Amino acid sequence: MNPANAPLVIVGAGHAGGRAALTLRAEGYRGRLILIGDEVHPPYERPPLSKGLLQGTMELAGCSVCDSVQLAELDIEHLAGNPVKTLDPALHRLQLADGSWLQYARLLLATGGRARRLSSVPEHLPNVLYLRTHDEALALRASLQPNTRVVIIGGGFIGLEVAATARALGCSVTLLEAGPRLAGRVLPERLSDALLELHRRQGVDVRLNVAIETLLGATRAEAVQLVDGQLLPCDLIVVGIGMQPNTELASAAGLEVGQGIRVDAQLRTSAPDIYAAGDVCEFRLHPQGSFQRQETWRNAETQGRHAALNLLGGELPFEVIPGFWSDQFDWGLQTTGVIANTEPTVSRTVSEGGFLLFYLDAEQRLQGACGWGQGNSVAKDIKLCERLIANQIPLSADALADANVSLKQLLRN
Ligand code: FAD
Ligand code: NAP
Repeated sequence: MNPANAPLVIVGAGHAGGRAALTLRAEGYRGRLILIGDEVHPPYERPPLSKGLLQGTMELAGCSVCDSVQLAELDIEHLAGNPVKTLDPALHRLQLADGSWLQYARLLLATGGRARRLSSVPEHLPNVLYLRTHDEALALRASLQPNTRVVIIGGGFIGLEVAATARALGCSVTLLEAGPRLAGRVLPERLSDALLELHRRQGVDVRLNVAIETLLGATRAEAVQLVDGQLLPCDLIVVGIGMQPNTELASAAGLEVGQGIRVDAQLRTSAPDIYAAGDVCEFRLHPQGSFQRQETWRNAETQGRHAALNLLGGELPFEVIPGFWSDQFDWGLQTTGVIANTEPTVSRTVSEGGFLLFYLDAEQRLQGACGWGQGNSVAKDIKLCERLIANQIPLSADALADANVSLKQLLRN
């Protein structure tokens, strides 16, 4: 088959892949469209997996990007539970796990990532759980019974959100973080401290600078032994020590891969007619910036949509203001723009113990901001910060610090 007449194919039926498929149809693409998934479910969003779905207040339908009825109506062929095993860019074709070959005209790789494994833990222990997929979330949900003694390894977003949900379900929780502070690679110290204070107040036994020696128990994990000799008896262990991008398919096919599948400003990989999007994609946020991956809902959403436009022949550079959120207990964290784990330039106190942190550049223009507050209380301010970042107007640090000066006012100025 002439590749030009072949279908558009998306590998990875997750958030970015699902969003790309919907966008292709919304943009009027009427040709054959194939969405290939490793998982058996139609595309869904992952944030509820550590929050509402884990707590039992939500089910898969509530997280769906599109369900099987929509896929059928839009004539999107969803090949579920049949991962791609081989990619042959020279011949514009790929092979599925069932052995069949498929030709593509253009291809999107949206293969996401998987939970990083703790190398010292044997894979067969039934009460050592990871969290990336819906099915893993259901397995974890079934184990989070009241009074279960849970040890969580990793004080990043999975660890913290699972800790909050497990406490809400009546579990006793010990959280072990290797580094000196919580989410210390991505968040400034003030936010790490706020998270620590909240979790300890809610009864989570948070331990920092912890090194694990081994797990005890032959057929089930019965205790975690720390390097300092302490023993932590447990019924359940949850490991959240980071994400490993699913780059193997691209690497084996000879595509350029760094920490993720490397793309240019149009989200094109190094191979002709192949694009990448989402957690697996390594891109430059600014033309002169370094390559990075963004493991966030917003990145999957915007890159999935953007890649679809370029699959249809667009030449649009991918330019968005990044951002993410996390909900823990009844508190919310929101970010916009480029924040760092270093100290912000300015901070502002907001109601009931919340605060906003601002990152200004040398010309006093806002590059990033994050907020911490009860419920959704900082959402409005973070939206305004996003507009201040987009406008790139020089700002007064004193005005930013002053809670009596509204951000809307700064935007008008
Ligand atoms: P995925 O959603 O992982 O989709 C990739 C899909 O590709 C998967 O289904 C995978 O099985 C499939 N696949 C892989 N290899 C192949 C293959 N060879 N063939 C076929 N299919 C394949 N972000 C936030 O901003 N806020 C949050 O609160 C938040 N909460 C989160 C909570 C949890 C528990 C998790 C796990 C993530 C959370 N995130 C959050 C991050 C966000 O969900 C991810 O950034 C987003 O899901 C990435 O989307 P993606 O499409 O790139 O990857
Ligand atoms: P993560 O955010 O990278 O955090 C992993 C944490 O585990 C880090 O603090 C890390 O410390 C620590 N760690 C690593 N090895 C350890 C060890 N052996 N013992 C103890 N601690 C160890 O990854 P994650 O929390 O597992 O999340 C996985 C993915 O889900 C990410 O893509 C994340 O963005 C996504 N997610 C996002 C959200 C959100 O945005 N709200 C919520 C849930 C999940 P060091 O940094 O010091 O190594």
